[in-house]
Amino acid sequence: AKQAGGQDYCYFTDELTRDAVNRFQMENQLRQALLHKEFFLEYQPRISLVDGSVRGVEALLRWKKVDGTRVSPAEFIPQLEEMGLITSVGEWVLHTACMQASHWQEAGLPPFKVSVNLSARQFQQADLCRVVAKCLEHSGLDPAWLELEVTESLMIQDLGESVTMLNRLREMGISIAIDDFGAGYSSLGYLKHLPVNTLKIDKGFIDELATDVADAAIVQAVINMAHRMGLEVTAEGVEQADQLDLLISLGCEEVQGFYLARPMPVPQLEDWILAPKS
Ligand code: C2E
Ligand code: CA
Ligand code: CA
Ligand code: CA
Repeated sequence: AKQAGGQDYCYFTDELTRDAVNRFQMENQLRQALLHKEFFLEYQPRISLVDGSVRGVEALLRWKKVDGTRVSPAEFIPQLEEMGLITSVGEWVLHTACMQASHWQEAGLPPFKVSVNLSARQFQQADLCRVVAKCLEHSGLDPAWLELEVTESLMIQDLGESVTMLNRLREMGISIAIDDFGAGYSSLGYLKHLPVNTLKIDKGFIDELATDVADAAIVQAVINMAHRMGLEVTAEGVEQADQLDLLISLGCEEVQGFYLARPMPVPQLEDWILAPKS
């Protein structure tokens, strides 16, 4: 028994060491990634259920290492946050997305919004407005075509400050979406204080929309509530036709999901937008 315990202990420290080594390696690789410009953006269409048009695209950060392997943002973004690098990477994302959107408009594509995800650190940055203003100025993008996505848990950490920040951003002409709506632990009571334009219903409620009565009831309630409050609704993570049909019948006006379009690099997105849809 003693021996087994010893082995358990060894196993445990091995695990810890391996985690630490992995993290150390990823940190080094992330620093290299910044130096060698291994980051790029993909864009996923947000599609109108009213007329089928592309109403917007969400910019999603991608990391492809020199050896060709890809790392999921769900993995490396928390790491960038911990390393204190997310503000500079986030600023690069914002700048790149604004430049791209402005370029699309100049190229004569039908206009659509570009939405950019903000991390906690970025949202709490006192000079976020200045950073956003700089990106708009450099790119020449009309602020009406920029949307920022923020999670609710982030906004209610300091409600008063968040409201001030959101109002300042909205005064600049930008719109704000609450990302992953319903997935956090926040209370609905906060919603009426938050000056936002759009609720993005979390994929977690969409997955079993067609088979789970409770999910359908929640999604219906969120859509009705949002509309009565003058907010727009986007359903995230739509993967199947029956989910889409239900969302149409529930009065949802916009969807994003693999069923209609995946996140795509720029050239592919341009082809997709210009291709005739049946
Ligand atoms: P998110 O903001 O909720 O972004 C949507 C995620 O859902 C994306 O994952 C997208 O590829 C995925 N998705 C969209 N439609 C479907 C679908 O039908 N089925 C499934 N299974 N997935 C779908 P991705 O690109 O891996 O990003 C994961 C998360 O990483 C994002 O979740 C966001 O929280 C974060 N992220 C990505 N880019 C950025 C960024 O530039 N800045 C910050 N701060 N966070 C980012
Ligand atoms: Ca998002
Ligand atoms: Ca989301
Ligand atoms: Ca998310």
